Amino acid sequence: MLLIKNGRVLDPASETDSPRDILLDGERIAEIAPAGKIAHANGAQTFDAAGFIVAPGFIDMHAHLREPGQENSETIETGSHAAAHGGFTAICCMPNTKPVNDNASITRFIVDRAKAFGHVRVWPIGAASIGSKGESISEIAAMRDAGIVAVSDDGKPIASAKLARQIMDYCRSLDLPVIEHAEDVSLAAGAVMREGIASTRLGLPGMPAAAESVCVARDVQVAELTGAHLHIAHLSAKSSLAQVRFAKQNGLRVTCEVTPHHFTLIDEDVTYDSRYKMNPPLAAREDREALLEGLADGTVDAIATDHAPHEPAIKDVEFDKAPFGILGFETALGLALEQLVHSGRISLLRMIELFTVGPARVLGKQRKLAIGEPADVTIFSLDRPWTYRVKESVSKSRNSPFDGRSFKGGPVATIVAGKIVYKQ
Ligand SMILES: [Zn+2]
Repeated sequence: MLLIKNGRVLDPASETDSPRDILLDGERIAEIAPAGKIAHANGAQTFDAAGFIVAPGFIDMHAHLREPGQENSETIETGSHAAAHGGFTAICCMPNTKPVNDNASITRFIVDRAKAFGHVRVWPIGAASIGSKGESISEIAAMRDAGIVAVSDDGKPIASAKLARQIMDYCRSLDLPVIEHAEDVSLAAGAVMREGIASTRLGLPGMPAAAESVCVARDVQVAELTGAHLHIAHLSAKSSLAQVRFAKQNGLRVTCEVTPHHFTLIDEDVTYDSRYKMNPPLAAREDREALLEGLADGTVDAIATDHAPHEPAIKDVEFDKAPFGILGFETALGLALEQLVHSGRISLLRMIELFTVGPARVLGKQRKLAIGEPADVTIFSLDRPWTYRVKESVSKSRNSPFDGRSFKGGPVATIVAGKIVYKQ
């Protein structure tokens, strides 16, 4: 048993914000009571959360763990370890491994490795098409039985509207979300950043915002045609957000996530340093402003990191030759507090929603602090000063533009199934 004492408990599901003690018994929450009122905690280990926020366990619904196939960049062990350091109790891993997670035997491999070596819960996402090649639908039902929580061809978009229709039709019957990496590959071809004044100044080939929103438009219409649940990954453009908002207003099952780097940085921040290269690329100032509005007004459902480790040998090269992607787990909460809460953009309860019930709802799960629920808890500070040093990261990779950044508040402890998996 583990007794979390003296914390300020915030739970978006019940709109709780009050001093509470929480007793965890094995893998479940046994009791929640006003401070000092839990009677039957004899023999329980105690965690003193005085001065800290106690929240439901954070979920990151978009990450790349690189196993199987690219274990020099990350493994299920190191990636889930970094997730625990970031306050995440559950993470979804994208299928673009080598081989691609497009069948039940790869899904089972990931699930088994996560059980043996994972520091937090790992929920795999299966490929929507075989090999994510965009030609034919993968073995989605068999992967669902093996443990996938969604499908995606992330890294690239579902290749055609016809295939998207087939996949959405099928996933609607299985009640699985279809997660789209929205990109019109013809508009994005050859680009390494967002098209605009910044790309002109740097002399780097850029893609317009429409490279994303053209694909969002296609998929929203296919979602309407099929009635499926469409989820837009790492949404970065104002025009994409407007379409998600419109779809929601029209009763479609369309959701979206935003990354910390897209609500923090813009194209003007890009230098020739490849740590500023990700896909979708850092967007324009007005896009970031729209994302902040969407995070506040409920259009955005989840904050997701798109944690994308690449070992230095392949990432530390010229900007145009480097692969897309940056680390995300360990800086997500610090950036969200800085950009969203301390800045007064959203309430603390709303920020927690974006890390907990928000992604849970997208995945058809629950997330709340209540008796009988899984004992997954994230404890964090609102004011502790700390500096992110990527060389001290437990990730195998080092590709973060936030190295050396100082934060006010961040993860203090991560508890998964009643066990403390990270303690600051
Ligand atoms: Zn993607």
